[in-house]
Amino acid sequence: MKFGVDIGHNCPPDTGASGIRFEDNLTLDVGTRVISKLQALGHQVIPCKPNSAGSVRESLAKRCDKANSNKVDIYVSIHFNSFNGQANGTEVFAGGETSRKIAKPVLDEFVKLGFFNRGVKSGSHLYVLRNTNMPAILVEGCFLDSQKDMNLYNPEAIANAIVQGLTGKLPTTPVNPVPDEEQNADATVLRLQKTLNQLKITDKNGKPLVEDGLAGSATSSAVAKFQKIIGITETGNADQATWNAINVILAKRIIRPNHAGGPVIRYIQYRLGVEVDGVYGPQTEGVVKNFQKQNGLVADGIIGPASWQKLL
Ligand SMILES: [Zn+2]
Repeated sequence: MKFGVDIGHNCPPDTGASGIRFEDNLTLDVGTRVISKLQALGHQVIPCKPNSAGSVRESLAKRCDKANSNKVDIYVSIHFNSFNGQANGTEVFAGGETSRKIAKPVLDEFVKLGFFNRGVKSGSHLYVLRNTNMPAILVEGCFLDSQKDMNLYNPEAIANAIVQGLTGKLPTTPVNPVPDEEQNADATVLRLQKTLNQLKITDKNGKPLVEDGLAGSATSSAVAKFQKIIGITETGNADQATWNAINVILAKRIIRPNHAGGPVIRYIQYRLGVEVDGVYGPQTEGVVKNFQKQNGLVADGIIGPASWQKLL
């Protein structure tokens, strides 16, 4: 089979919803895994997400063109929902009868993961379903502003649900496991020292840490400096809150003006020398754009993979 896999959004100005998490991050995380898994099962995959677009409409049109010109057998668009913080569960939109038959087993797999069954719905109002020539579905995986759904969110399990639903099978060996820094449980002194050096957090004398795996005053002074930056109590001890902040920064999620808050933004503000207040407002945006310009990047104020690479 030839699948057209459309990773939703991730193509400014076509960007996704935000809530507890960002839709762009979730669709990319899940979609990348879906593509690898389908390929591992021997299917051909045409990724449909464009690299750039001048408008949301153009972004959507390019996705459909990709699927149509490659004559894929089935088009699958991956999205996550947001509403009022209370709504939760999975819904799958389908164009016609054939599409509904494809949508149903995908939805059933989500329900097995514990998501509320919102049903297979008519997608006749959706641009990508109207403008693709083959059976097509649009999966709204779950609600990224629902705490219930975000507690259930696991990109590997969701990718498996989509692949199992589409093909009735899963690859027997895990493919391209994507390291998820947020789950990194290695809290050794050596990892702490390496990580603080990577984050460019120096000791009390402004020096990088010696990576010797031994706890000492230099390491604890760097930990205290990091704690101050991210706005937690300066104990000099790398406790759970410290590690959570480290891991969430290393996860390098896409950061947008007016959306992000918390430790990641505080860390970026520290690195770019702007007042650390944890709010991605206009002042920070200006500094981020300058930083991007100086590094030869598109100055869009969105901290994506290229900006992260320059930072870390
Ligand atoms: Zn979406």
